[in-house]
Amino acid sequence: MSLANGRRYLAIPGPSVMPDSVLRAMHRAAPNIYTGELHDVTASLIPDLKQVARTEHHAAIYIGNGHGVWEAALANTLSRGDTVLVLATGRFAHGWGEIASKMGITVDLIEFGQTSDIDPQLVTEHLRADTQGKIKAVLSVFVDTSTSVKSDVAAVRAAIDAAGHPALLLADCIASLGCDRFEMDAWGVDVMVTASQKGLMTPPGVGFVFFNDKANAARDTADCVTHYWNWRPRIDPDEYYQYFDGTAPTHHIYGLRAALDMIHDEGLENVWARHETFARVIWTAVDVWNQDGPLKLNVPIEAQRSHAVTSLEIGSPDGDRLRNWMENHAGVTLGIGLGRAPQDAYFRIGHMGHVNSHMVMGVLATLDAGLKALNIPHGRGAIEAAATVLANHAGDQLSECGAPGNSCCG
Ligand SMILES: *Cc1c(COP(=O)(O)O)cnc(C)c1O
Repeated sequence: MSLANGRRYLAIPGPSVMPDSVLRAMHRAAPNIYTGELHDVTASLIPDLKQVARTEHHAAIYIGNGHGVWEAALANTLSRGDTVLVLATGRFAHGWGEIASKMGITVDLIEFGQTSDIDPQLVTEHLRADTQGKIKAVLSVFVDTSTSVKSDVAAVRAAIDAAGHPALLLADCIASLGCDRFEMDAWGVDVMVTASQKGLMTPPGVGFVFFNDKANAARDTADCVTHYWNWRPRIDPDEYYQYFDGTAPTHHIYGLRAALDMIHDEGLENVWARHETFARVIWTAVDVWNQDGPLKLNVPIEAQRSHAVTSLEIGSPDGDRLRNWMENHAGVTLGIGLGRAPQDAYFRIGHMGHVNSHMVMGVLATLDAGLKALNIPHGRGAIEAAATVLANHAGDQLSECGAPGNSCCG
């Protein structure tokens, strides 16, 4: 007998759950890539992507994953020998910095630990000390998926401005776009990168770089740029939608069209509200478990927690034991303690994209069973408390935002 038989839930922080409408949109024969519908669909993606990113500037599509667009953002703005300042709140910031370093860019890194947001004051001080203007860009990860720390990107912009420093602000929204409120233009972000397989609910394989005119001007002198990563042709409809610098990612284009339609129909503000509600439901359950046991949230301060992924600490090796129990007895796959030491003392719940109440409550209730099955001490009443929070928030998404034509619906 296995209690895991039935529809499985991949509750990891990407790739996320793929909606049936996305899968259906992709289930088709290969289209004509030279002319016709594919070009129109591609063109239609650009304004919708910009709306989700909250930018009026440029959007470039690449065949590639998050690592690809990390490199694209650096290649178009930097030259060998330039310095970047990396603000680290987890493994992914280090990963972006390592790519920069392999490209011949000097990396200054401020380590902010793995449980809290960046300190803008330290950013300002570091930039003020750069009297020769060697630092050309600040690399920030909005939500570091390894720790689930959410950074205040607008505060990073304010810190750069307070230092009177001309560095570009680059933001990684790979795990957070379409989950956590993000306002590229209003927050003063010059370059933003994201990928298809997290909040955008599409299989891994396409990445996106959004950039403003200041960043595009940096491209004039950036000597890291190579033919494939050059973003200029990718924002030229005549050159790009037809030729894509190689074969178009045909099926991803159809899948992404369906995913963006879903976000539009729900309304971006409602999508954010749904993610926030589920995050609060999860935090509530964990706090109750923690009243009488070791399982706790990795990020103590609420405002610094992601709404798309939650990192939990439980002690070695119970992180792995609980993950395995969930896989084998609940049909739920949880995320590993990526980038943590010891890795098996941590695990992560992905709750990004196509996720609803029964999925979140199912994960929590089966986690509760796992704690009991494995004799891991835990406070009682977590599911009762989580259900109460869910019940209290259930009306939130019925705001006027859902009305057709309302501009706040993005
Ligand atoms: C997933 C992720 C990446 C890496 O994306 P890949 O598509 O796996 O290359 C980078 N940054 C963040 C914050 C992520 O969540």
